[in-house]
Amino acid sequence: MAQTSQNKKDLAQARTKTNFDITDMTNYLYGGPANVEQRRYIIDLIAREPIFNKDDWPWLNHTDAVKRGIAMSARLAEIKMEHELNDLDFATMVEAIDDTLPILLHNGAFIPVINSQGSDEQIEKWIPLAEKYQIIGCYAQTELGHGSNLSQLETTATFVQETDEWEINSTTFTAAKWWIGGLGAICTHAVVQAKLIIAGKDYGAHVFVVPIRSLDNHKPFPGIQVGDIGPKAYGGFNKMENGFARFNKYRIPRENMLMRFSKVSRDGVYTKPPHAKLSYGSMVLLRSVLIRQMALYLSRATTISTRYLTVRRQFNNPTKRNDADINPGLETQVINYPMVQNRLFPMIAQSYALFAAGSVMMEMYIGLMTGLSSGNIDTLAEVHATSSALKSYCTTIAAAGAEECRKLMGGHGYSYFTGLAHMFASIVPSNTYEGDNYVLTQQMARYLLKEVKTARITPYKVTPYSKYVLLALNRDSFTHSRCSVTRIEDWLNPDVQLAVFEHRCARLATELSDAVDAAGGMESTTWSDHNIECYRISHAHAQYVMVLWFIQSIRDARNPETEEERRASPEAIAILERLSNLHALHTIQTNLADFTEDAYFSPAQCQSLRSQVKTLVASIADQAVGLVDAFDHPDFLLASALGASDGDAYQRLWDKAQTEPLNRREVCDGYEEYIRPLLKKHGELKL
Ligand SMILES: Cc1cc2nc3c(=O)[nH]c(=O)nc-3n(C[C@H](O)[C@H](O)[C@H](O)COP(=O)(O)OP(=O)(O)OC[C@H]3O[C@@H](n4cnc5c(N)ncnc54)[C@H](O)[C@@H]3O)c2cc1C
Repeated sequence: MAQTSQNKKDLAQARTKTNFDITDMTNYLYGGPANVEQRRYIIDLIAREPIFNKDDWPWLNHTDAVKRGIAMSARLAEIKMEHELNDLDFATMVEAIDDTLPILLHNGAFIPVINSQGSDEQIEKWIPLAEKYQIIGCYAQTELGHGSNLSQLETTATFVQETDEWEINSTTFTAAKWWIGGLGAICTHAVVQAKLIIAGKDYGAHVFVVPIRSLDNHKPFPGIQVGDIGPKAYGGFNKMENGFARFNKYRIPRENMLMRFSKVSRDGVYTKPPHAKLSYGSMVLLRSVLIRQMALYLSRATTISTRYLTVRRQFNNPTKRNDADINPGLETQVINYPMVQNRLFPMIAQSYALFAAGSVMMEMYIGLMTGLSSGNIDTLAEVHATSSALKSYCTTIAAAGAEECRKLMGGHGYSYFTGLAHMFASIVPSNTYEGDNYVLTQQMARYLLKEVKTARITPYKVTPYSKYVLLALNRDSFTHSRCSVTRIEDWLNPDVQLAVFEHRCARLATELSDAVDAAGGMESTTWSDHNIECYRISHAHAQYVMVLWFIQSIRDARNPETEEERRASPEAIAILERLSNLHALHTIQTNLADFTEDAYFSPAQCQSLRSQVKTLVASIADQAVGLVDAFDHPDFLLASALGASDGDAYQRLWDKAQTEPLNRREVCDGYEEYIRPLLKKHGELKL
């Protein structure tokens, strides 16, 4: 018991060191007090509902978990309608529930795809039904044989002119739709990607609204074989019934093809979209949402580990932050070890950067959709490439970060009760779905290759975030350019940091362009030979925009256009600047080879960079608990014995272990059957 109260005391003491206003910081992160209030209100709505209680989750098997997921889905839909919640509130509900539910693809993909690719009449027909959950939809693109390569999907939609219908057919066994969230049990409809065939001619993949199950009795329609694909890795997505479906010459009306951009008339005439990439809007949305989700995930993981590491004590080693003066005789708080700080604090900074990136990416998406609605496609290619690069990078660092947070917490980190195990299992597939993180990087690389060409011919047309390609136009001076840092404090200049990232991006983009040109251009080169470089440049670009957007968001907070927009006090801004510096410089340090291989950094600069990072890490120490408190994740959401806000880690871990069903019996199941015969094999023993 004495230990327990010390845990609480440790966290409380750490909080007293915070030298900025936590409310201010929370307002900065979520875009103002009204948003913070609304998020709290929504999380509370969920926390009050018994169906969303998480206590028995670790003991549910796949079948029970899916049933729970279905019950949770139904309640989620009811709450949305009862409270007339908008999409952002819905996303917050999903955040609060903290699990992937069968209904999510209905709101996350089915509705957005119809909204962005359906004609006005189709939107009018399907969306009201979908919004009232009179139909439940999913998004069926991936097949057993193909996912990434959309052009090789094998499901066909063949136009039958006599009856004015499409015949949907899984032409081979590998054409079965696979992995589809919501398809396994609950959906009544699916938007299906299938190859459009008219009079034997293949027009490529298009989207069709396909009824799957009867609205009367929920039985699959004749001609469709549908089911659940089974349990998933690490016990993740266990409440989601990812499904399969095979279509056997299944007929749907012609009007069920989504026709905002491509069209097929009654007499079978195909009209192609005015721009090949017009249908990318819903993809950009899903990727933008993922970036914000990663901010929420990583900030939760760092909250849990920061709080636990503040109360965990090991050894009696002196550190610069020894608390022997206030806690004589106690072991060292592990958060005081520079090695621990060096692993943890850059991830806190990264979480803040992810919040900024999530906001800007969403603004870019909204700008894109506004443009598209008036026929303006100017920003389409850039926004699409940026969302691809960021999706790949942000989901990669969030998944790696969650695992690092587990390791930071030592043995207890491996307990389910950290709240991290379940979260990790939910995050990792984000590296694969919505575009495999490696394949996706080819999008940004292709885009940059075009930008390099544009820079050479019409430099004024280069788009805002790839302006760095202009740096390399004059090869001679670019090759000899060197980082301007002379004193250690120069690293803290945001303009110097941005110049460093821009230099790397310009070099990598130009090198990729040269390699493709040397191989005879895009038409002749073996593109897959360049994919390692694609990954490098795409992640380099993502890091550049993340650093840029974090810097810009702090500048905006410092100089708001109106007093109402003032969301951060000078003290909060001072610590944000430190975080931004740490984020930028730690990212450089992690990729140091990229900055040295062309001698842009000197050996002395590398050393001073490391030294500056070390100083910055140490400078966060007193603020760490306040910084994670500012993420404003309530205990219900964290669902963590180790990371609860009161710091009572050992007591909570003990209490949680007592809920283990095995502990309900003094003598374990299986004793009579297995253990007793083993113990008695050589006769009775008296000791
Ligand atoms: C949890 C989860 C939920 C999902 N939900 C849905 C859903 O609701 N609807 C839906 O339609 N789909 C869904 N999917 C499927 C998902 O979108 C695909 O699995 C994903 O896009 C990856 O495609 P793939 O499986 O074809 O991978 P593959 O492309 O087969 O990848 C296999 C490996 O090959 C590599 N690779 C492939 N092509 C290249 C290349 N050109 N160059 C270099 N390397 C390459 C990849 O990096 C990877 O390592 C889901 C998947 C998961 C895991």
